[in-house]
Order: sequence, then structure tokens, then C-alpha cells
Amino acid sequence: DPACQIHLSHIYLTGGNKMTLLEEAQRVADEFEFTSEQLKTAVVEFRRLMDLGLKNNDEAMTMIPTFVSDVPTGTEKGTFLALDIGGTNLRVCSIHLQGDGTFHLVQSKSAIPKAMMIGSSHDLFSFIAERIESFIREHHEDKFDCTEPEHMLQLGFTFSFPVNQTAVNKGVVLRWTKGFNIPDAVGVDVVDLLQRAIDAKSLPVKVAALVNDTVGALMARAYAAPKGTESLIGAIFGTGTNGAYVENMENVHKLEKAEHQTPTMVINTEWGAFDNAMRVLPATPYDNALDHASVNPGYQMYEKRISGMFLGEIFRQAIISLTTASDPGMGGASLFNGEASKQLNLPFSLDTSVLSAISEDESPDLATVKKVVQEQLGVSAGLEAIETLQAVQLVSRAIGRRAARLSAIALCAIISASGRLSSSPTSKVDIGVDGSVVEFYPNFEEMVREAIREVLGEEKEGRLTFGLAKDGSGVGAALCALMARKQQEMGIR
Ligand code: BGC
Ligand code: MG
Repeated sequence: DPACQIHLSHIYLTGGNKMTLLEEAQRVADEFEFTSEQLKTAVVEFRRLMDLGLKNNDEAMTMIPTFVSDVPTGTEKGTFLALDIGGTNLRVCSIHLQGDGTFHLVQSKSAIPKAMMIGSSHDLFSFIAERIESFIREHHEDKFDCTEPEHMLQLGFTFSFPVNQTAVNKGVVLRWTKGFNIPDAVGVDVVDLLQRAIDAKSLPVKVAALVNDTVGALMARAYAAPKGTESLIGAIFGTGTNGAYVENMENVHKLEKAEHQTPTMVINTEWGAFDNAMRVLPATPYDNALDHASVNPGYQMYEKRISGMFLGEIFRQAIISLTTASDPGMGGASLFNGEASKQLNLPFSLDTSVLSAISEDESPDLATVKKVVQEQLGVSAGLEAIETLQAVQLVSRAIGRRAARLSAIALCAIISASGRLSSSPTSKVDIGVDGSVVEFYPNFEEMVREAIREVLGEEKEGRLTFGLAKDGSGVGAALCALMARKQQEMGIR
């Protein structure tokens, strides 16, 4: 009878080669192992693709020159607008840089309607211009009297997608990521799209800089970091993942000699596309199922194993596999007694916050895990057994841990390529980070550090600092708008 089955599915090994639920869960968790050896091999591959990308190889990472020549010093001053389009929200901000590493920021945030993410560029940019208009009506009403372009509000535009940037305020969309797909914008200059939408409403706004969120994170961190800290990398572990870093111009072979006007330049790696060829990245059946169900199969393969938009889906796939793991009637074990739910069967229905909450629970009865399973996964069968909750947590933690270890690949590769930790035994490297995964997934930084220790050694890892670049997309964009103006004054493109 069914009651008996429920009971059977949760007792330990009943003979033959049937596994208990926890053994099944451990087997799935083990599929997410990423060893030290794998890490080291992957770091070598990352460096190879970085180098190729700097030389202009389509197979490699995109490695986009940003035309931002250096990071700020902290003494920058002025008031700027910032617009941030990332994976989920649209933010309009006004930032006052105080010149001492601090700033004032006012912002208005709205969710981007799903339909706009896959519609036309005209609809998206009209919507954006409306948001900008209502923001400046509220906060900068006086600017509407302004007629001289140089007195208009200067806007830094944080656009967190791959663009082929050809100047600090110019760049054409290469492709969409993170669930966005607006085909008519591909190959078009996004600054132009935005400026036209702004001009159509006669707003006193000039788009001064086009900024990837990773560049924003790097700039914001460099501005705010303690004196004497040199920031090398800005990294996002959020809805998507990517990083930007300061490169020596002599290594940026893809820029023409005439364009080498500064000793360094910030490079947007677009590391989310690292190893699309799948030479070194791990692939479980759950990763493969996710990729097939995504809007861009075969692309962003690194991102699909690390970032917030995807971890919930990997988890969902793995959990579903456990609900069908064995035949309970035969004495094996299935998660939730083999029951699923509407939520559990719905692709991309689980947010990474689900994993964060499940992984974080350290209470003996796993009360939070139980609550999240009931409320977010919509499942109630089998929850009276602690093994059910333990199994769910085991899988969740394995996915989060793998994400952190994979994240270390990019950081190790860039740090070692820069040579900055080897230049002197006391040199330090600072990394500005932002995004929901690094901010909210429990122990994410610590797990990244552990993996970095395995590759670079404990001594070097000890000379790394991480700083949250909160509001990077706002402050960083403001700083880029300011640097753009400076570069222009100095006659640098
Ligand atoms: C985009 C990057 C962005 C990253 C983090 C990726 O999907 O391609 O441009 O920096 O997400 O938002
Ligand atoms: Mg963002």
C-alpha cells in the first residue's frame, strides 16, 4: 500500500545494489566535483584563450577593448547620470562623486518587462527613455531649461551584454545573453539607439560612455578602495558572469598601433563564453539538459555553470533526476517519493536565491530547507524524513561549490597573466566584485579562495583582496562618463 511505500523509500539500504536516498544524492553531488587537477588544466586553457582573444581570434574569448585607459584614483568629482540595463532590472541613477572616494546616489529601479527582453529595440529603448524622463523630472527638473550640449547631463550607460566597442561611447551589439533576444539590435550601435530615444523626447541628456557592468565594478571599486590598493579586476557573479581587468596596451595586439595611445587599457573579457568548445569545462547530464533548454545552446557555457540565471535550473534538473532515481517498490529510493510538482516541472522556475537559502541552513532539523522545498519547489511528499532534506541540501551545496571553483579559473588566469603577485613578495591584487551569487550565496568568496589556493598557493592567495563594488553599475558608469570627458579633453579617443 502507498503508506508502506513512503516508509520503504526512506529506510537505509534494503539489499541488492539499491542505493539509499542519501547515497543517490551523494552520487549526484559527486558529479559536480571539480578537482584541483581539472582546475589547473582549465586555468592554462583560459590563459590560452585570453591570449588568442587579445590577438583577435573568433574562436576565443571576445576580449573587448573598452577604451577606458585606466582606473580612477578616488579624487574624481562631479554629478553624472547612469543608466543600468543588466539581466533583470533597469536603473536610472544620479551620482554625485565627492572627490574623496565617497559619493551620493539617488536611483529609481524598475523591472524590465519580460516581453521587452525579446521584443524590438524600438520598444525597449522607448521604455528606457520614458524611465529617464520621469527620473530627471523628479531630480533634475532645472536641466530641462538647458540648451547647450556641454551643460546637459552626462550619462554613463551600463549595458551588460557583449558589444564590439570602438570608442568609449560607441559599440555595436555582438549577441544577447541571459534570456534577452532582440535580433534587430544585433550589429547596431547601442549608444546610438539610446541617444535617439532620448532625443525623441528632447531630454537634456548626452550619452558620454558605454560601460560593461564589469568595467563599472572595477571602476567603482578602484574609486572606493583603501588608499594604496591597486584594483586589477572587476567581476560580476550575478544573473550572468563576466570580468574586466587592466591590461598592458602592448598585449592588446588587436588594436591598431595608432590606437595605442595609453600604456594600459581596461579589457572586458566576456568570460561567460569561456570554453564554449567544452575542452575543459565539466558537463553533467543536468548541464546538458539546461543548455538544450536555453535560448542560446552551445554559447555562454562557462556562465551557464556559474551564474544566477542558471544555477537554479541545474539544481531543478538534478532534483528531478533524484525523484526518478530508483523504483521505490523495489526497495531503492526516490526523492519526494517520486512525486514532482508544477513548479518543479517548469523550466527556469527556480531562482538562485532558492539554492542560497537551502545551502545556508545549518539547523539540525533543516527547517529552512523544508520551508523552501514546500514553498518554492511546491513539493510536500517525503519531507517528514530528514534524509529528504539532507539529500536536497547535498545537491544544492555541490552545485554552489562547483560554481565557486569554476569562478576561480578566470581569476587565477588573469592574476597570473598580469604577473602582479610575482613582481614583488609584498605586492597585492584587489578584485571588485558584485552580483547576487557572490553577495548572497553562502561562503562563495571563501570557496573561490580555497580553489585559488589550490592553483596559486596559499601565500599568493593571502595577498588577494576582494571588495564588494556595491552600486558598481551606477558609480562605475558615472566614473566612466567622467573619464570619457577627460580623455576627450586630452585628445584621446
Ligand atoms: C554578459 C556580460 C555581462 C555579464 C554580467 C553576461 O551575460 O555577456 O556582458 O558583463 O553577463 O552581467
Ligand atoms: Mg547588474
